[in-house]
Amino acid sequence: DKNPDSGGIAVIGLGRFGSRLAESLSALGHQVLAIDRNPQQVQRWSAQLDQVAQADSTDELALRQLGVADLNRVVVAIGASVEASVLTVLALVELGVPQIWARATSTQHSKILSAVGAQHVIFPEKETGERLAHLIVSRMLDFVEFGDAFAIAKMRVPPPLVGRTVSEIRLLDRYGVRIIGIKPPTDHQYRYVSDGLELGSDDILIVEGTIEHVQGFAALA
Ligand code: ADP
Repeated sequence: DKNPDSGGIAVIGLGRFGSRLAESLSALGHQVLAIDRNPQQVQRWSAQLDQVAQADSTDELALRQLGVADLNRVVVAIGASVEASVLTVLALVELGVPQIWARATSTQHSKILSAVGAQHVIFPEKETGERLAHLIVSRMLDFVEFGDAFAIAKMRVPPPLVGRTVSEIRLLDRYGVRIIGIKPPTDHQYRYVSDGLELGSDDILIVEGTIEHVQGFAALA
């Protein structure tokens, strides 16, 4: 299979994180092979997920027998045991799995996972913590950071701009941001903005720019 976006996905480790991920991938219509070494977890998730197998994922042969070597994407969702997580990534590298996603639970863990060959290291606790910090201390309703200081945020219209039109505000010149979507309170979907559009106090905005500019814009008072 040459298309990296097609084919099944294996999720290894059905703890809180892995099981949610496996459910979400299934809900998106993907074929998911879920693997855990604990028979109780396997039993628990076999009703909800299509394919659940019991295996020790540090065992390369066991993974091969389950067909993992033929998959393009495998997620190692084991958190608590750094050793099991790293050995699993090594086994997947040996099997030649092209896209290995691995979950880290500490900065050191994340470095090891990259060093042994995981293409994507995810650190959910760190990422969620950082994102939440922004939401707690600002008026932003949601916030996504893309690296290189770029961000997109969901927010209410800053009070000084209520009742003004988009062209009047000169967003890019003055605030270094661009509004990429707007949702009036009566609507259920975002729309693109036109220059003449007047910002309402209950509108929700999607704003893009550098983190600094987006934060500054959200803090306008
Ligand atoms: P969470 O924080 O998401 O609950 P845990 O690290 O507590 O994550 O759970 C990880 C899951 O991975 C557990 O269900 C555990 O049985 C499983 N697991 C741990 N080591 C292995 C292994 N070597 N092979 C397969 N599954 C494993």
